[in-house]
Amino acid sequence: MLGLYVHVPFCAIKCPYCDFYSTKYTKKYALDFVESIKQEIDTYPKLEFDTLYFGGGTPSLLPIEFLNEILLNIRKHFSLKLCESTIEINPNTVNFDKLSALKALGFDRLSVGVQSIHDNELLKLGRKHTAKQALNCIENAKKAKFENISVDIMLGIPEQTIESLSKTIEKLKDVQHISAYILKIEENTPFYGTVEVDDDEVANMYLFMVEKLKQFGFIQYEISNFSKQGFESQHNLKYWRCEEYIGLGKSAHSFYNGKRYYDRNIITEEHPATYSERAMLGLRLCEGFSIKDFSKAEEYAKKYESLGLLEFKDDKIALTPKGFLVSNTIICDLSG
Ligand code: SF4
Repeated sequence: MLGLYVHVPFCAIKCPYCDFYSTKYTKKYALDFVESIKQEIDTYPKLEFDTLYFGGGTPSLLPIEFLNEILLNIRKHFSLKLCESTIEINPNTVNFDKLSALKALGFDRLSVGVQSIHDNELLKLGRKHTAKQALNCIENAKKAKFENISVDIMLGIPEQTIESLSKTIEKLKDVQHISAYILKIEENTPFYGTVEVDDDEVANMYLFMVEKLKQFGFIQYEISNFSKQGFESQHNLKYWRCEEYIGLGKSAHSFYNGKRYYDRNIITEEHPATYSERAMLGLRLCEGFSIKDFSKAEEYAKKYESLGLLEFKDDKIALTPKGFLVSNTIICDLSG
């Protein structure tokens, strides 16, 4: 079944490392946004969805009545058989009442932008919340009866050490899901040319984190994603498994009827199951992907297996944690 993504393009401030499309929140923009989403919904037939994901931006900046308005239109127009309904939140945009209201709207999964539980690291990242606010937010979410909480953490933050990362993981070990991203300095961001990430140090942090999360019962299922048993993100798995989804919002992508769209324009008619696309997405997953019809790839795969970067699992190949660190090179070789 299809996944439905709603891109909410507002943030309270722009984080200095972020190159996602977002604009400053104002009530007027938000009202225009809700109207444009309603109109966009009306252009689709009555499709069936089993996952719903509000991402951004910072969707939790939207007032509850605006979120409700969008959800009412989604429910009226589409057929929902949801197994997962996620909203991304920033810790300083929600209190217990708002979290309870989000639960009452039908969201059953939160994705919380924590990044670190150390104030000096949050400050270096230019985040506007404190460690205390992040931890309070998780406690409030539990009190509001959320039983599926995901947190984003970051590796490679200036001043971060293995010890400080270890403490961040320990504090967050009771949530159901952790997404861990390596700080990437993108061009056209204030961090570009002013902040440097030490690749070797970050590689050590990544391998340390994989082991530490394993000790706390997290199963790695994707290059950056770890979950307790049964709490993998069903929506995001669709992207990596080349399954179809509709994206609502000006800067959302869709993949529908075998075509990829951006802003309602077709960007490629290439069939999704091309080898290189499947390799690129499938090799992000620990379940791996099948190379049985591709003898050239097998040759490369054997080379990487001997280096401990890749494993054969029946007729599939999957990268090891060390392999994930050099995944771009391996994916290039295997799909070239
Ligand atoms: S809150 Fe998220 S989307 Fe918004 S600027 Fe910061 S990192 Fe980017």
